[in-house]
Amino acid sequence: MSAPNKSYDPVEVETLKPEEIERMRDEALAAFAAAGDLDALQEAKVAHTGGTSPLALANREIGALPPHAKADAGKRVGQARGAVNKALAARQTELEAERDARVLVEEAVDVTLPYDRTPSGARHPLTTMMERVADVFVSMGYEVAEGPEVEAEWFNFDALNFGPDHPARQMQDTFFVQGPEGAGAAEGESGVVLRTHTSPVQARALLDREPPVYVVCPGRVYRTDELDATHTPVFHQIELLAVDEGLTMADLKGTLDHMVQSLFGADMKTRLRPNYFPFTEPSAEMDMLCYVCRGESVGNPDRPCRTCSSEGWIELGGCGMVNPRVLVACGVDPAKYSGFAFGFGIERMLMFRHNVEDMRDMVEGDVRFTRPFGMEI
Ligand SMILES: [Zn+2]
Repeated sequence: MSAPNKSYDPVEVETLKPEEIERMRDEALAAFAAAGDLDALQEAKVAHTGGTSPLALANREIGALPPHAKADAGKRVGQARGAVNKALAARQTELEAERDARVLVEEAVDVTLPYDRTPSGARHPLTTMMERVADVFVSMGYEVAEGPEVEAEWFNFDALNFGPDHPARQMQDTFFVQGPEGAGAAEGESGVVLRTHTSPVQARALLDREPPVYVVCPGRVYRTDELDATHTPVFHQIELLAVDEGLTMADLKGTLDHMVQSLFGADMKTRLRPNYFPFTEPSAEMDMLCYVCRGESVGNPDRPCRTCSSEGWIELGGCGMVNPRVLVACGVDPAKYSGFAFGFGIERMLMFRHNVEDMRDMVEGDVRFTRPFGMEI
């Protein structure tokens, strides 16, 4: 700022001359008009209205004028700045409207265009069902254990207390793997089978670990069935094994109840019916309450239930306390430890949970079957 002058000195206040003020104003207006977009306008705004713009500097000079000249000069600068700000706002509005109109055109989406013609895949519902069941147990602290699908006969049968003459060993149930030429080449002599159940993983888990053992074993199994609406030679099971001190049938029952409640709802329950399996003693068939009618169709002809045939219960799988002979075969002391196990077929659960009527649909790989199950991670 110049020093205050007593008299009006036109040299010192060159910037406050009317023609100078007009020139500054006109330059600002021209710059705004020339700005082609909002960025350019922003630059022009800084140059012509900012703290170091000619009009701002001129405004500062007013203080240096003698009193009688202040009002005049202040009025001229004020009018010029007003005009500049007005022009700036007008140009700003204009450019914003132009930008909005352009964005509408440039970013328009043509909803009639064909979408991606390579649709994304979905996981097979058997896989997601198996993982969902396994997750119930993982959340309780169980470990997922896996074993080979081509299995030694000893693990598949002997370790699980299947005697040498047990019918399950016969050719009509079991795929025997042919041995190499010369050694066990004849069927049934190689000692190797495609596992007929996931139970051999129990034996492997017990041999691998020191008790306490809590494992869940999902996997693919094989039997010599023809493929039809209710059978498939390749199917899936999930097996559970718990071996610890002091486990009883009550622990088994509580675990089963927790599983069906996690999968089908808080009011679900299970029941056990006596049965026989070589690898458990005592053994039981486990049923769960029908998840559709919750048992209300029983003795109620007005409300028949197709899912459970109005019986109120659905058979799910087999279970029991681990046979002490199995514990001994796997090097676990049955005097100290006890255990429970159960297993069931995933296909069966998928069938009644989603009303799948033909097992062939699950194995044929037709996406029209799997797609409605959607993506599940
Ligand atoms: Zn029912």
